[in-house]
Amino acid sequence: MAKRGRTRYLRVNPRRPDPLAIHVAAQILRHGGLVAFPTETVYGLGANAFMEKAVQAIFLAKGRPADNPLIVHVGSRYQVQSLVTAVPPVAEALMRRFWPGPLTLVLPSSGRVAAAVTAGLTTVALRMPRHPVALALIRAARVPVAAPSANLSGRPSPTLGRHVLQDLGGKVDVILAAGAAEVGVESTVLDLTTAPPVLLRPGGVTLEELAATVGEVRLDPAVGLAPLAGVVPRAPGMKYRHYAPRAPLYLVDGDPEKVAIRIVALVEEARSRGEKAAILTSEEKEEYYRARARPALLLCLGPRSDPARAASRLYLSLKACDRHGVDVIFAEAWPESGMGLALMNRLRKAAAYRVISV
Ligand code: AMP
Ligand code: MG
Repeated sequence: MAKRGRTRYLRVNPRRPDPLAIHVAAQILRHGGLVAFPTETVYGLGANAFMEKAVQAIFLAKGRPADNPLIVHVGSRYQVQSLVTAVPPVAEALMRRFWPGPLTLVLPSSGRVAAAVTAGLTTVALRMPRHPVALALIRAARVPVAAPSANLSGRPSPTLGRHVLQDLGGKVDVILAAGAAEVGVESTVLDLTTAPPVLLRPGGVTLEELAATVGEVRLDPAVGLAPLAGVVPRAPGMKYRHYAPRAPLYLVDGDPEKVAIRIVALVEEARSRGEKAAILTSEEKEEYYRARARPALLLCLGPRSDPARAASRLYLSLKACDRHGVDVIFAEAWPESGMGLALMNRLRKAAAYRVISV
């Protein structure tokens, strides 16, 4: 076990976590401490959802705006009953199909969680993660666990234990490290307080999968292509610039051949300004950029046919750009079906909506 300041860094087996490590972390969590833990989406920063002070400590550690509510993680369907005023049939169906897993459901709150969790809303966002370490921890703590992503607010979410240590070392009590997060982007957030349900944030469960279970699903306008003037997202977190690397990122959208030509030109221009450029490419164009653009950093997210793979590599790639100290990043746009919707949502936010259409 390593220590940084007050932070204990515990490596655990992702499939069969050491019961003693889980016990120690769960006791700390239950009694008001902060515990970072792996989930299948990204690493989370957890606190006992019933303890106001513990929840406030999350906001403090992350520098998170107080008006951005947290997702409450549960270890059983039974736990849900006490947290909401009612479980509508559509919620039952979705929980049966997708829990444990990367789907967060927004339901009317019973008001039992600490006020800071819901940031004054009358609704509460609930999820049961499927990562064995997350499930074991929440069940051992025997309380619902409020947990946002375990990064500093505005920075890319952590997909490895060491990312959490970089952002929050010294600010939390325990970090449970168990290798790479499998999905690599945050959960899907679905609002069930209206009919039809509204997708507030695309994530690890796709729109197509949701529609197959519940029929019509509306997209919150804030999920869409550009920040629409006057549109206030109903997931408060979606209004912040998010997931951002240090260097400005430009998303280049259009016909893939034209995109590649434009990115080569953009890298050339950056070079003439004396700037180091990075490219986030698909596998199809990797060799092309290597030969023609020769960027300071070329990061491949995988084949265009596999946006899920690309999503799982996105935050790691953005952090690599930080580590290499590049001055500017150019990213190819991806098709928006399946996991492509979540991938493009995060890319647009990382780009602060600087999209170059060709
Ligand atoms: P994070 O915990 O960092 O993954 O962010 C959680 C996301 O869920 C943010 O975008 C929040 O705004 C959103 N969220 C949490 N609770 C609610 C709620 N009650 N209603 C709508 N969105 C919510
Ligand atoms: Mg987050």
